[in-house]
Amino acid sequence: MLSRRLFGTNGIRGVANVELTPDFCAKVGLAVGTYFEGGSVLIGRDARLSGPMIASAVISGLLAAGCKVYDMGLAPTPMIQFAVRHFGMDGGIVITASHNPPEYNGIKVLRPDGIELSREQEKEVEEIFFEQKLRPASWSSLGAVRALKGALKAYVRAIEEHVDVEAIRKAHFKVALDPANSVGVLPALELLNDLGCKVALVNGEIDGRFPGRHPEPKPENLGALSQLTRSSGADFGVAYDGDADRSIFVDELGRIQWGDKSFAIVAKWFLARWPGEEVVTPVSSSSLIRDVVEAHGGKVVWTAVGSVVVSHKMLEIGSRLGGEENGGIFFGPHQPVRDGPMSTALMLQILTEERRPLSALMDELPKYYLMKSSVKCPHELKPVVLERLREEFKHMNPLTIDGIRIWFDDGSSILMRPSGTEPIFRLYAEARSEERVKEVIEEHMRIVEGIIREASVR
Ligand code: MG
Repeated sequence: MLSRRLFGTNGIRGVANVELTPDFCAKVGLAVGTYFEGGSVLIGRDARLSGPMIASAVISGLLAAGCKVYDMGLAPTPMIQFAVRHFGMDGGIVITASHNPPEYNGIKVLRPDGIELSREQEKEVEEIFFEQKLRPASWSSLGAVRALKGALKAYVRAIEEHVDVEAIRKAHFKVALDPANSVGVLPALELLNDLGCKVALVNGEIDGRFPGRHPEPKPENLGALSQLTRSSGADFGVAYDGDADRSIFVDELGRIQWGDKSFAIVAKWFLARWPGEEVVTPVSSSSLIRDVVEAHGGKVVWTAVGSVVVSHKMLEIGSRLGGEENGGIFFGPHQPVRDGPMSTALMLQILTEERRPLSALMDELPKYYLMKSSVKCPHELKPVVLERLREEFKHMNPLTIDGIRIWFDDGSSILMRPSGTEPIFRLYAEARSEERVKEVIEEHMRIVEGIIREASVR
């Protein structure tokens, strides 16, 4: 991890006290404090046991750079992102490893607008860190730290500005909530209670060991929520990841619905309010998103994979909605970042307007079958293989922002994309029938394998 690069696709990540040691974290704090020129920096953390140790070390580094530090303590990522902007900070830091197992932690750096640094800005921090451009303050201008209060209420009220609070209260919803024993429970309960919802809670105790379930809201981790949704007679269930930026919904029948579907439902509602707008999503998203967006008069703008890329694209083109298949919904009128509690409020708004159960909204979406696979490919061959694939499929007008994605006339598609970390090429196929998706993936695995074989003998 201590290569010339600090930041991965989602901040700095590593195992607590192995990679993220106190001295490393203090140095990151000093580098980030230098980058923010000793300004005001807000810091908060998720429920992990290593949170206090890592936050203290980072704060120490920020103070050494002369920063005024405001400590929010336990808070989900989207609430910290909101607070940085709301309280007019020069920057922010989130101590979280999102959906990773409990031994991991991470450091995310936020700009004054609450959005994660762009890759270019991360490089500036890396340059400060690696090239010893750290600027410690003199003894008389060291920073001070104080607690920041009032963020929770301000954040929840800000979410409520985007929905019809009275109408939702009158609908008397019941919601099953699974915040993964982490910080999402704090704003979610405040929000749901204020919106007049009855709440059935599972994994609601804050506990950084994540005893209830793995903090990634994948279907295999959400059995308890599915059951609770049914047994409590809830209108829907919602699960967050460890820092509550992602939300996965369960319909009233207990069926776990993957994030592309909830995003499609939100996109449809959004386009009815804001006709003709552009909706941003990574190339790995289901064709379902394109079908729904185009059917409702909008336009899809594809990006490379990664939530930070989506946020920055939204800013660049002035888009007000983004989404990822993993349950990240970016509702720009609130903030152009993934936000689990905001997504929950939008779902309540949609169900209030629709007056139909969530299962009905899910079942009317176009149905796609998905298959994933991978082919072994040494790192050094990846660029050549990608180049050959682009050559091979040039006539099909592929999307080549990140890997290569091709659509066929029958609506099926294939994405072939080198893994950023593992020596493999990943393939994602989608089609309107089970037989066809199998056919698409097998055919393209053969093509990728052939190209890799050819490239490796040269
Ligand atoms: Mg997360």
